[in-house]
Amino acid sequence: MNVLIAEDDRVARAQIESLVSSWGYNIIAAKDGLEAIKMFNAKKPNIILLDWVMPGLEGVNVCKKIRSIKTEQYTYIIMLTAKVNQSDIITGLNAGADDFVGKPFNNEELRLRLEVGKRVVKLESDLLAFQQKLKHQADHDFLTGLYNRSALMARLKEEKVRSVKNKRPYGLIMIDIDHFKNVNDTYGHQAGDDVLKEFSVRIKEFCRAYDIVGRFGGEEFTIILPNAGLNTAYMIAERIRCIITDKPFKILDNEIKITSSFGVSTNMNNIEIEIEEHLKICDDALYKAKEGGRNMVVCADDLKDRLGYSQDVQKGGTIQE
Ligand code: GH3
Ligand code: MG
Ligand code: MG
Ligand code: MG
Repeated sequence: MNVLIAEDDRVARAQIESLVSSWGYNIIAAKDGLEAIKMFNAKKPNIILLDWVMPGLEGVNVCKKIRSIKTEQYTYIIMLTAKVNQSDIITGLNAGADDFVGKPFNNEELRLRLEVGKRVVKLESDLLAFQQKLKHQADHDFLTGLYNRSALMARLKEEKVRSVKNKRPYGLIMIDIDHFKNVNDTYGHQAGDDVLKEFSVRIKEFCRAYDIVGRFGGEEFTIILPNAGLNTAYMIAERIRCIITDKPFKILDNEIKITSSFGVSTNMNNIEIEIEEHLKICDDALYKAKEGGRNMVVCADDLKDRLGYSQDVQKGGTIQE
């Protein structure tokens, strides 16, 4: 737990520092209000012991300033001051202080007030961690750890907005594992689950950090490729197809050959296309890959169209791959 001590009196500051550090806290110390704010910004301490009367910026204004700064974690502020009459306390609480300790202070009281601060900070950070965990669970598929369908849809909406704004396309790849039912039927459902996990690891490892990889449902996966035109998206899909077929999946004592089919499209020729329609077009391409014999990549637009519009667009100078 980090404690920032802001106190202009050198002797008092040294005394508080040695006392509080003897209770096991990490200490940083500031000699006035402005330095306290700088240190707060740099170190984001968990607790601040704040003197009221200081040159430059008074403690109560430091408190107001700190409360106006948005931070991830809560900072517990204890005013350590001779100003402890009722109206001072009201002013301090209004400025955002959590507690007051009167000067001269009793060591044991200060120790216990810091303990209260520590409890509040800990509760708050546990709550934050719990919220983040819930958010992660809500957005991710429990089996593979990839984005789930609703998170994918949300990211796709964001990507569409970004794409329109920046006049840059995005690529979409839909993948469906071939004859996956046979895997379950032959090796069991658990082996099927393990194949889905290994499949996810392979595509995730291949993709770039800013690509959005998700499990659309069952044995279907979707990849959103920011800034990718059709050629890039096609190449990526083709490479992924190969990394799936190149090595059989080692599941327990079995080596299982897996192939998958791909539909690829971009919003390059219609940058404002609705995402549902775009998904449908990509899904139709995937269907064609299945019909065409599986283990293949099919683009939503044939090569002639692809060259046609990418040249047009490049001439227009708005969208380039
Ligand atoms: P196709 O090549 O036409 O895609 O054939 P397929 O067998 O892959 O497609 P089908 O839709 O007939 O079967 C998909 C199978 O995926 C059926 C379902 O039980 C299985 N499946 C879906 N989700 C899971 C899962 O979470 N774990 C396991 N083990 N199997 C799953
Ligand atoms: Mg002072
Ligand atoms: Mg399917
Ligand atoms: Mg399938």
